[in-house]
Amino acid sequence: MGDGATDFDPAAVRAKYLAERDKRLVPGRADIRDLTSDEYFASFREDPFTPYAERDPVVDDVDVVIVGGGIAGVVAGAHLRKNGIERIRVVDQAGGIGGTWYWNRYPGVMCDVESYSYLPMLEELGYIPTRRYAFGEEIRLHLQAVAERFDLVTDALFHTGVAGATWDEDAGRWRVRTDRGDELTCRYYVLAVGLLNLLKLPAIEGMETFGGRSFHTARWDYGYTGGGPGQPLTELGDKVVGLIGTGATGIQCVEPLAEAAKHVYVFQRTPSAIGVRGNRPTDPAFVEGLEPGWQRARMDNFQAIMMGRRVDEDLVDDGWTHDYASVHHPPRWKGMTTEEYLRSSEENDYGIMEAHRRRVEELVDDPATAEILKPFYRYLCKRPCFHDEYLPAFNNDNVTLVSCPGGFDKVTEKGPVIDGQQYELDCLIYGTGFEPEITPVFRRAGHDIIGRDGIKLADKWADGTISLFGMMSRGFPNMFIMPAPGQQSVVTVNYTQLALLGAEFIGRTVGILDREGVRAFDVSAAAEEQWTQDIVDGFVDGSALMSACTPSRINNEGHPESFNPRNGNFGRGFGDYFKYRDLLEGWLEKGDCGGLELDVPAEAP
Ligand code: NDP
Repeated sequence: MGDGATDFDPAAVRAKYLAERDKRLVPGRADIRDLTSDEYFASFREDPFTPYAERDPVVDDVDVVIVGGGIAGVVAGAHLRKNGIERIRVVDQAGGIGGTWYWNRYPGVMCDVESYSYLPMLEELGYIPTRRYAFGEEIRLHLQAVAERFDLVTDALFHTGVAGATWDEDAGRWRVRTDRGDELTCRYYVLAVGLLNLLKLPAIEGMETFGGRSFHTARWDYGYTGGGPGQPLTELGDKVVGLIGTGATGIQCVEPLAEAAKHVYVFQRTPSAIGVRGNRPTDPAFVEGLEPGWQRARMDNFQAIMMGRRVDEDLVDDGWTHDYASVHHPPRWKGMTTEEYLRSSEENDYGIMEAHRRRVEELVDDPATAEILKPFYRYLCKRPCFHDEYLPAFNNDNVTLVSCPGGFDKVTEKGPVIDGQQYELDCLIYGTGFEPEITPVFRRAGHDIIGRDGIKLADKWADGTISLFGMMSRGFPNMFIMPAPGQQSVVTVNYTQLALLGAEFIGRTVGILDREGVRAFDVSAAAEEQWTQDIVDGFVDGSALMSACTPSRINNEGHPESFNPRNGNFGRGFGDYFKYRDLLEGWLEKGDCGGLELDVPAEAP
């Protein structure tokens, strides 16, 4: 969207950005109600989509237990099957397959990463998404189809949370207890617990006094609103609805709410940068032109562009590959000094953000509303968004934007109070997101993981990650953790691509271990020290740049200095996906399990 900046005045731009940041750097902005322990709001986590069915506890011994039936768990299971693993049990708190796509069924939910790269295993399933950007329901049903194809559903335990997992040295197995009394033992334990699985509710004074209906977007109450994903919200015609949050989720549900509700108040703390979406049905000619291997090639093409590598053609050709890639890896001409490079990067960023601000002016009729919707910060300070109907929705008479850069004063029985003004609502919807993806895996998993000698993963990683490849850790034999941001692997915009890499690694590793008759593997001390040291050495301290950002998840809500180098990525900055993949593939091809200590029982005489 960037079209060059003709009026770039660095000092004025920086001053404006800092002033906007400061409005939002208010004490308590990151305070949350912890839904893992909060008694009042615990019901916000309940499943509104699938009725809970009583069942007897299961006692079983299997090859693998996978915790999580989202993208990561499904592709891990698929690759374990491809490597000959027979008994797999997926355990998930949800009532079915899908993970984030199971829970997030709010109206308008879609994935803003191109569907042809995001939906996994399209070639294996012979499926082509119906649109360039898929709605959530299509993604959920596709994940369900992948799970069925690899027979991961029959033995799955849904509406089941793992209560604890302990390594049993004598048996050479993990003992897994669930909150439904199940006792599972398994040779391999795979944590695929999701990145954004812990709902975040801000802590706002008086929020429990609200007398209307309220829920989080990740547990949309269609019983109250009427309709369903992709259908009109039939019960809201006489309701005044408030939506907190204008991140990637909030911006997607405004238009369906505007179409249905008597009135919608959108409470905005920080505006998102809303780029062009350009969704469209899949062109049959595109499908006809696809050659075998096309999906990995397409994912690689996207990934390469996001990493600033040269490609012959931009296959995805959207806001990610234009704006995000250009800001992430600004062009550097031969002979440019560092100062010139920094200045041209800033100017490029300004040009892109100006284009976003102009787009707001073009699409929103009321100049005062448009002004509030303009994002004043550098592009990568917040996760960018893409949508074509969100901004025009503010032209409806029944939609009011309420600016609250400092948050809410409080919530009363009637609704929120902001700057002394009471907003009276029938329904208050929290589009307030999730604990960040860098939340340590032992918290995201929600249960104690106890390895050799009674050591808890939470204690071992209390001061940061210690791992081999970001997927295994010494003292936790036969355990794999799917790669994730902040966990010594790499960050990718297309998470599916990282999940597939982790899944293939785990599947093939287990295949090798089984072929070699290995009873248990552990990571050697030297291997994980070396890996962790490499991560620390590659850590890029971006706190100088990030502290000028508006507070967000990306800069740790205004505290980028507290990022722990041990929770960094492989390669510099966000990490180098291709180097990481080459390293893992090289390791698998060598097949000697370097860095692992293997317990191979002596053959019976
Ligand atoms: P976010 O954390 O991105 O946004 C939460 C929103 O709630 C922000 O607008 C935030 O304001 C606001 N908020 C939080 N606390 C308060 C408060 N006390 N008062 C007022 N406003 C408040 O969550 P999302 O659910 O939107 O997105 C989370 C992630 O999910 C995304 O980053 C993305 O990774 C993923 N996602 C991906 C999609 C896709 O298409 N691929 C679609 C949807 C989500 P502020 O900005 O000031 O913090």
